Amino acid sequence: MQFGYSETCLDHDTGPRHPETADRLRAIRRGLAKRHGVEYVDAPPAEKSTVAAVHDDSYVDEFHDFCSDGGGNWDPDTVAVEASWDAALTAAGLAEWAARAALDGDDGRDTPFSLGRPPGHHAVEDDAMGFCFFNNAAVAAQAVIDDGLAERVAIFDWDVHHGNGTQDIFYDRGDVFYTSIHEDGLYPGTGEVEETGEGDGEGSTLNVPLRAGAGDADYVYSFDEAIAPAVERFDPDLFIVSAGFDAHRHDPISRMRVSTEGYAMLTECVQDLCAATDAAIAFVLEGGYGLDTLSEGVATVHETFDGRIAMDPDEDPDEKNVELVDDVRAAHGLGAK
Ligand SMILES: [Zn+2]
Repeated sequence: MQFGYSETCLDHDTGPRHPETADRLRAIRRGLAKRHGVEYVDAPPAEKSTVAAVHDDSYVDEFHDFCSDGGGNWDPDTVAVEASWDAALTAAGLAEWAARAALDGDDGRDTPFSLGRPPGHHAVEDDAMGFCFFNNAAVAAQAVIDDGLAERVAIFDWDVHHGNGTQDIFYDRGDVFYTSIHEDGLYPGTGEVEETGEGDGEGSTLNVPLRAGAGDADYVYSFDEAIAPAVERFDPDLFIVSAGFDAHRHDPISRMRVSTEGYAMLTECVQDLCAATDAAIAFVLEGGYGLDTLSEGVATVHETFDGRIAMDPDEDPDEKNVELVDDVRAAHGLGAK
């Protein structure tokens, strides 16, 4: 894969006891150093106007001034320093690079993956939250739509948390499909099956809130039986993966049980769907707080694009999750299984 990376993202200093640290990127880089076929690409920071295409001008200015004044606690979880402004613009710029590269034809072993931080999927139009300031995946989707490079973009969020920000930004839009598998009841508490979009966006939000303890089989089943048919019907030009690795069984902040191999399975699911719909693929880093599991997860996605074949899940999906997927199918007019 091609990895978008910039040292500017290391300067977003969240302090000594925060889970979202620059060590995450360092761990990913160490893991990738042992792998074959890894390429790094630096990309310019996003323009302020590109970020303001999905965020309110007043919020963007407020965040700028907050950083200029030295930063501090935006909220109890979300902290910034002076350098966070440049890091946030750079993380958005790396995501934008990934979307453009994918639409420019970079696929297979050249598939782009942006390794930016701060992460993005909790950032809403007018506020930062959950360690996120600019919604990197949303900025990328909007940028390629505004430039006429894509008409329809799907964003699949496999981070263990629901990407409330991405959902909100595109909730009434018919040209961006947002879909998430997340742990039910975890921060920020959104992402119910019934949240399906509104107005022109009715049907273009699809949530699968799995029960705590869900593993590889539940994720693959949710993707194959709910997400894939809905995305196929939507028929995107670009498929962005909001790739967090905090659903891993050894991640310190969730109770999900996805294995490292599970990320290979999900990557294959994405590859198969995008082959069927002829969509370009771009990855954008979100969360993941166990340094070893984060680094192994990213490396496993890379290896899958490098030709490694994923194993099958070693168990069946949980009955309750099968019922949940039935509910999702019903909410999206996909018929009974
Ligand atoms: Zn997360």
